[in-house]
Amino acid sequence: MIKYYSTNREVPKVDLAQALLQGQAGDKGLFLPTSVPAISRELLSNARDMSYPDLAAAVLGPYADGVFSRDVMEEICHKAYNFDVPLEKVTGRSWVMRLDRGPTASFKDFAARFMGLALGRLVRERNTDLLILTATSGDTGSAVAHAFLGVEGIRVLVLFPREEVSDRQRKQMTTLGGNISTIAVEGKFDECQALVKRAFSDPDLTDMNLSSANSINIGRLLPQSVYYVYSASRLADIAGGEEVVFSVPSGNFGDLMGGVLALTGGLPVSRFVVATNSNDEVPRFFASGVYKKIDPSLVCISNAMNVGHPSNLARLVALYGGQMDEVGTLVSTPDLEAVNRDFYGISISDDETRATIGRVFRDYGVMLEPHGAVGWAGLTEYLEKNPDAASGTSISLETAHPAKFPEEIRAITGQDPLLPPSLEGLDEQEEIFGEMGLDYAQFKNHLVSEYRS
Ligand SMILES: *Cc1c(COP(=O)(O)O)cnc(C)c1O
Repeated sequence: MIKYYSTNREVPKVDLAQALLQGQAGDKGLFLPTSVPAISRELLSNARDMSYPDLAAAVLGPYADGVFSRDVMEEICHKAYNFDVPLEKVTGRSWVMRLDRGPTASFKDFAARFMGLALGRLVRERNTDLLILTATSGDTGSAVAHAFLGVEGIRVLVLFPREEVSDRQRKQMTTLGGNISTIAVEGKFDECQALVKRAFSDPDLTDMNLSSANSINIGRLLPQSVYYVYSASRLADIAGGEEVVFSVPSGNFGDLMGGVLALTGGLPVSRFVVATNSNDEVPRFFASGVYKKIDPSLVCISNAMNVGHPSNLARLVALYGGQMDEVGTLVSTPDLEAVNRDFYGISISDDETRATIGRVFRDYGVMLEPHGAVGWAGLTEYLEKNPDAASGTSISLETAHPAKFPEEIRAITGQDPLLPPSLEGLDEQEEIFGEMGLDYAQFKNHLVSEYRS
């Protein structure tokens, strides 16, 4: 059975069930597996012919050894992954992987749906209950809300920055009701996240069974390793060791961590292009070894990536032999040479993002939205600077559906993105959400009065 340790290394290791239920470790660190299960040679050669849910069960099974049987894992993956994962050729051997076909039209559905089913099961087995607190920069809230809607024993409270989410992003979470509640906060995403994190470590609230569905929860990362294996197996000879370049538009670095787990498990990846918007604290850190948060974070059109201090950076640092605490202090430096061998950090401005959406639509007829465009712009620059890589397979992740950002897309391409079925009828639905200033005492009061049994 794989155990999970905390990046702050001050609490005992736990099993996957405990890590999922708890979210954040008791010492405020983040859980990571003590060893990353190898993706076997056999799986690398069979992956190409497996359906997405079957591949997910095979990749994720070993992480849950002793917690979920193989049958349970298959059931969860088949229920969670009942939508397409299109691979769209753009030019040469460069592709876009569309992770936007789930019920809330962003890649967050992949992890949220797995977590909803896995946690629902654990809560049922243990006859307990859970209050999931989540801060969202746009897409986590809706993915989590949909994934946990109607799950018995679990209530969800989502905090979102009032001015930083699009109308459709907001409506996807404020129109559900039932066991899902939402609060608009007068603040930024980082500040919403700080409120939530403070509640997790508040000794007065330890009896409340709080958990997190933010990417501090290991359950948010593991499922995100599957689509790297899936896409590479279909587009390259991974069984023969052919290496792939991935470009990952990044904010809190959960998506990238999924890729890093796949790489560590043995997926042949030559480089991850780590593409951020103007919140470029991580590309700077890779280049200089000096880490400086951006506070307050900058507001960019790729709003789900407006993160000035990514919580998953502590995990990345840990996997490369260093240690970073929860406020972003480097306790020990990771192996920067290895970091720069595996990652190519790049920051893309809003102007470049808009130009990329226009260019890719005009030249190739492929519609990107702001996050995917940051990834594509990063990949383009990387391939220009590394002509050797340009002859191989490269895959850029498209993390949301263009119809989530209709105003922006219309202004740039002159076209209205087609509405996917998951967003139909949304504009007319009635919203219910609370409102709150940036005030921890008020937040805590709300938790106690509304949720303490
Ligand atoms: C959350 C999100 C990202 C950033 O993913 P991280 O795991 O936080 O790096 C990118 N694009 C979209 C559309 C998102 O919702």
